[in-house]
Amino acid sequence: VVQLEYVGDLAPYDEEEAALAEAGASLTVVRAADGDALVEAAGDADVIWVEWTPHLTRDVLERLPKLGLAIRWGVGYEQIDVAAATELGIAVANAPAYCTEDVAEHALAMLLAVSRQVVFRDRQGQQGLWRHGPAKQKRLAGSTVGVVGLGRIGSHVAKVAAAFGATVLGYDPVVTSPSVRQVGFEELLASADFVSVHVPLTAETHHLFDADAFALMRPDATLVNTSRGGVVSQAALVEALDAGRLGAAALDVFEQEPLPADNPLRGRDNVILTPHEGANSPQSGRDLRRAVYGATVEWLRT
Ligand code: NAD
Repeated sequence: VVQLEYVGDLAPYDEEEAALAEAGASLTVVRAADGDALVEAAGDADVIWVEWTPHLTRDVLERLPKLGLAIRWGVGYEQIDVAAATELGIAVANAPAYCTEDVAEHALAMLLAVSRQVVFRDRQGQQGLWRHGPAKQKRLAGSTVGVVGLGRIGSHVAKVAAAFGATVLGYDPVVTSPSVRQVGFEELLASADFVSVHVPLTAETHHLFDADAFALMRPDATLVNTSRGGVVSQAALVEALDAGRLGAAALDVFEQEPLPADNPLRGRDNVILTPHEGANSPQSGRDLRRAVYGATVEWLRT
């Protein structure tokens, strides 16, 4: 088993590693700069785990003749060409639910941080500025929260937002959720005080939030994005914020990560940025590990 470019905690996990050893496998961590380096370093691998890079493209997969299982160390499959893997007889897996509550809580924490101006007011509190500037906090209870994508994370956000006393509207072309009032995308954008995005990044959702979407949103609305950076056009977002056509944004994910130092989203009182931390907690780390090791051991045993 080869683990690629894992940037997280590399401490040994005795229980999981014992299960791997029992299944007759050993784990090697490889830091490969690109596909060629990966093929060179992991040419003998039966199983590869990839967190971010290099991607397991068709070209790379074709040059890994022993590979039987490719696992995304996380949610989503953007790093693996699933169609090519399937054609080549390579099984593919990921850990779709390891951080559902974490990301939902992060989205809600960001939403509340904007509505209560927590970050902005913290800066004042740290500087000893008391009751400084007009109160622009907003009450979540009684406001309308629009949840785009009612899968694992979105439906959890919807449930908790409702518990805060918000009216929740949902949009999802596939899923129907009995506890959320579902409306069309445009109606959701036009009605919501807060829009929280929880869709996968696909050809259809790329730049789902573009200039047209921002034009439909209320000028005092807040956009919260903890899904994938490519779902939001950052250029259109900056334009909408600059023109006062959008109230605020809270972002955990970006079109380019890390967010470049000169990016115009930085340094605004109405934008909060977290560096793709929405999934992280000791609990999610444990669940992710268990899911990946578990799927690997299961595959090795069959
Ligand atoms: P999920 O697959 O359970 O749910 C996604 C939902 O989006 C599905 O119900 C699907 O029908 C819906 N959807 C697809 N296209 C849509 C569209 N055009 N409009 C509205 N809905 C649409 O996924 P999830 O586990 O809830 O994850 C949601 C997002 O969160 C994904 O983008 C995932 O990559 C991201 N994520 C981010 C982090 C982070 O660290 N910030 C961590 C995990 C997941």
